[in-house]
Amino acid sequence: MSSKVDAIYIHIPFCNYICAYCDFCKVFYNKEYVNKYLEALRKEIKDNYKGEVITSLYIGGGTPSSLSIDELKKLFEILGVFNLSQNSEITMEANPDSLSLDKIKLLKENGVNRVSLGVETISDKLQSILERNTRKEQVVTCINNLKRTGINNINADLIYAIEKETLEDLENDLSFLISLDVPHISTYSLIIENNTKLKLKGIKNIDQSLDRCMYDFISKTLKDNGYIHYEISNFAKPNFSSKHNLKYWYNLEYYGFGVGASGYISNIRYTNTRSITDYIKGKTVIDKETLTEKDKIFYEIMLGFRTNRGIDKREFKDKYNVNIDSLFDYKKLVNNKVLIDENGYLKVNENYFYVLDEVLTNFLDSNVK
Ligand code: SF4
Repeated sequence: MSSKVDAIYIHIPFCNYICAYCDFCKVFYNKEYVNKYLEALRKEIKDNYKGEVITSLYIGGGTPSSLSIDELKKLFEILGVFNLSQNSEITMEANPDSLSLDKIKLLKENGVNRVSLGVETISDKLQSILERNTRKEQVVTCINNLKRTGINNINADLIYAIEKETLEDLENDLSFLISLDVPHISTYSLIIENNTKLKLKGIKNIDQSLDRCMYDFISKTLKDNGYIHYEISNFAKPNFSSKHNLKYWYNLEYYGFGVGASGYISNIRYTNTRSITDYIKGKTVIDKETLTEKDKIFYEIMLGFRTNRGIDKREFKDKYNVNIDSLFDYKKLVNNKVLIDENGYLKVNENYFYVLDEVLTNFLDSNVK
């Protein structure tokens, strides 16, 4: 079966420091490993990429900005093999403390037109829990440098619902992010994952009702400031939604290259090893799930409901050869205003984003076949 892939995710696992909450696939920056890693990445791409036209390239991590100028040059030389369309979105993740002006210029020269910055929080109290040390001034300088260089499509990440966090702390973080005048803000309610320092330190989740209150406060504040709540955790000014992430949520195909990366190509969802030593030895994919039609429909609904667009009913029919209305009897959910069925799209009412899992369960229970 031919693939319709036009998006690529690249994982760069190196970081200059390890944050206490982090469950991503990452290691401490190590010069010797970077070189070997980039060669393994080159090989994985060469063995798998079929020359498709690519409209979005996302370099995530880890902290891609932890690489030196020479290492970044090598990375871009490796990525030069991709057949990028003229208006492609090219995003790189970065931490403000490692994204120097020289690196920003290099990104610009190599076509990067979107940067996603890990800001997370500017509260000293909360940074000490997360074991991060991002200075407010560094963030401001970094964003000014990006804008001066002509990279205006900037995302800032915010983490909230951290133990000891008050609504006032959250208000401060939000005011700071809004003052940066960035067109995209991603928000994450802190999850205390197993095998993280937070878990070992015995840090607890905040009360569920406070978490809900914070979620609603974020949504209201950002919407009042011109951001569109276009995905349950993501906000953007008009025309600044993440094209790359929308491909995930619209259940489209993408390559994932690098340690810990995952991809979705021609009915197969695959995951690469999280072991950097195995990856360097050329052992890449460790898990493959071949999707049935039913699985694909499940992903389509689960992911599509995360967005304010929802599910495109006509596209659904084209993809699966069946009307969504004949698979699910969801009238009750529409009558109760949990779902909105209008103009050919079926979407979750934003007031129910917070309880999306519950909505999804109720929707799937309405299966009539
Ligand atoms: S949160 Fe980001 S910077 Fe911190 S350890 Fe994880 S990948 Fe690295």
